[in-house]
Amino acid sequence: MQRSIRVRSRGKFEVIDVTREVAAAVAEARVAEGVCTVFVRHATAAIIINENADPGFRADIVSALGKLFPEGVWEHDKVDDNGAAHLKAAFLGPSETIPVRDHRLLLGTWQGIALVECDGPREREIVIDVRA
Ligand code: ZN
Repeated sequence: MQRSIRVRSRGKFEVIDVTREVAAAVAEARVAEGVCTVFVRHATAAIIINENADPGFRADIVSALGKLFPEGVWEHDKVDDNGAAHLKAAFLGPSETIPVRDHRLLLGTWQGIALVECDGPREREIVIDVRA
């Protein structure tokens, strides 16, 4: 089963939890045991799995990425002025794969799936692919 969802970011950098949307797709997929791939179809956004309960951690991701990849010093900035956004997205990666067992995502207690917006606000398409 494959499905696309659309997520709208509101800020330039933002971490948006999509765990509920992915879990809903898995529940509908009728796959008891398999894998779920979550993939964002954009070059300036990423998918991560990490702490999902503390909003402070989401702010930490934004802050840490800002320190690693400062604005305005990259070759790509000469093309369309968002070199830092591409580097952040490349560093984190566009997808995550989660095992599925008993029709559910096998996430740990504190793990959630999030879209990391690196060059918003924009509408982003995320592909959820569930396979036995
Ligand atoms: Zn660009």
